[in-house]
Amino acid sequence: MARLIKGIESKLIHAGEPDPRIEGAVTTPIFQSSTFETGDAKSYHDLRYIRLNNTPNHVVLHRKLAALENAEDALVTGSGMAAISATLMTILGAQGHLLAQNCLYGGTHDLLTQDFPQLGLEVDLIDADAPGSWREMVRQNTRASYVETISNPLLQVADLEAAVDFARRNGLVSIIDNTFASPINFRPVELGFDLSIHSATKYLNGHSDIVAGAVIGRHEMVERITRKLNHLGGALDPHACFLLSRGMKTLAVRMRYQNESALKIARFLEQHPAVAKVNYPGLESHPNHLRACDLFDGFGGMLSFELEGGVEAAERFIGKATIPISAPSLGGTETLVTRPAATSHAGMSAADRVAAGIRDGLVRLSVGLETSDDLIEDFERALSQ
Ligand code: PLP
Repeated sequence: MARLIKGIESKLIHAGEPDPRIEGAVTTPIFQSSTFETGDAKSYHDLRYIRLNNTPNHVVLHRKLAALENAEDALVTGSGMAAISATLMTILGAQGHLLAQNCLYGGTHDLLTQDFPQLGLEVDLIDADAPGSWREMVRQNTRASYVETISNPLLQVADLEAAVDFARRNGLVSIIDNTFASPINFRPVELGFDLSIHSATKYLNGHSDIVAGAVIGRHEMVERITRKLNHLGGALDPHACFLLSRGMKTLAVRMRYQNESALKIARFLEQHPAVAKVNYPGLESHPNHLRACDLFDGFGGMLSFELEGGVEAAERFIGKATIPISAPSLGGTETLVTRPAATSHAGMSAADRVAAGIRDGLVRLSVGLETSDDLIEDFERALSQ
């Protein structure tokens, strides 16, 4: 009898796994083979080869990721940036134009503003909270819109319903980077997005030990992106596939703990006299709090804040806090702290950062799985020194 798999926790563990199990193995083994017997492959893309992202370890992940976000299909990639670049190059085609949110992960921002013009691809940055201003930006060659579910590093929540509606009415492909929310807190395809992208390096894997990406959404688009990726060479190694599968099995319990812990820490920071501003969509003071309540099942483990003393105070806090590790990236078991102007968003010009609202003194925190009260005590000490 087929396994009864309905809830997201069950899907994380059982969806897409081989049935029957291989040699009875409870976890899918690593297929460390670059190539496989030809069999009845009808085209180049059907040959089984690690670069074509279609070995048994890849296939399990594709089925699991699609099931998690209730989508038609999914693809894993060698990094989040491989997912973003292959997706946009496929969807924009030659001379395409993209409308993208003005506050994005620094790597994405740099790809769009520095590399795309060299490829003949055009980008306009939009205020994702002002849908009224988007229509006048649409051109005859506009092919897609791009937003982040919760923006990096300011934790803004764009008008996502309007973004889907706008893309539909203007014949655009709607793309969203869902890294910060993870499928536990938000499933973009359910709202109507065509494609959801992840840096699977972050929450999906959850242990800061691999780099990986994912594209989830419409079958026809995922198939075209796969072909592009096959040529670009952004495959995920089978051992990394295995680690990603293992990490994903605990996503629900990790994410819910991180949702809870980040909210407690955000509340603590908000009332602290040394803190000027806290960005966390779970706080009532967040300008998009009600929207986040409507859209999400949780507010995530990321927050950012500014201290009264600006950059100096931020550096002092990072130096004094003893539990968080000062490192970029996010979504793992260890709490990480960083100053985006010096790390994730250092590639942006100072003027672009100012325009996006990213101040030099902003501190970004990825809340890990440590005891929340330990973190709060550590922060209290670091702020009072
Ligand atoms: N998207 C977001 C929101 C990110 O924060 C990152 C990396 O920090 C990326 C994409 C890129 O992912 P990767 O480092 O796996 O290429």
